[in-house]
Amino acid sequence: MLDFDICDAARLRKDPDFDGLFFTAVKTTRIYCRPICPAKTCLRKNMSYYPSASACEDAGYRPCLRCRPESAPFSPAWNGTKTTVSRALKLIENGALDQQLSMDAFAAKLGVGPRHLTRLFQKHLGTTPSRMAKTVRVQRAKRLLDETGLPMTEIAFKSGFKSLRRFNTVFKETYKRPPSTIRRKTP
Ligand SMILES: [Zn+2]
Repeated sequence: MLDFDICDAARLRKDPDFDGLFFTAVKTTRIYCRPICPAKTCLRKNMSYYPSASACEDAGYRPCLRCRPESAPFSPAWNGTKTTVSRALKLIENGALDQQLSMDAFAAKLGVGPRHLTRLFQKHLGTTPSRMAKTVRVQRAKRLLDETGLPMTEIAFKSGFKSLRRFNTVFKETYKRPPSTIRRKTP
């Protein structure tokens, strides 16, 4: 789906128009970024491009702490045309998959079958709805860690995790470090 040359040129320009449309992943560091990342640019041969943060994480990359992929605009280029996927993302953002909702029920809400929904996600976002929901939960938590002084338990529940333990596990999987070490010093 993504054109390597277009992505690579946008990354080298740090083009804000592409922010949120794709993510840049560096094979050598195993970190993924927004195209606008201020970190020094890497060699073309070390780059991979993915259509979503979730797809980067599925591929084993962790989010950059400088450009903060969790604050990239959540509006894929095909927004408006691929309405099923857009509506699904909106529901996921609003926590639909943080509840006990089955994939069948989730797909039914969108008026499609679960297999079709999975295919659409794979095609446009390079991931599955449940992995996307997981990324969205971690991203909510990361924003709360950066922006609030809330206790960890509250961050876990507000982000949609069912327990503090689950939050710690998933966060550590994603960032390769525990949430307590991420917390910024509140000014
Ligand atoms: Zn970055």
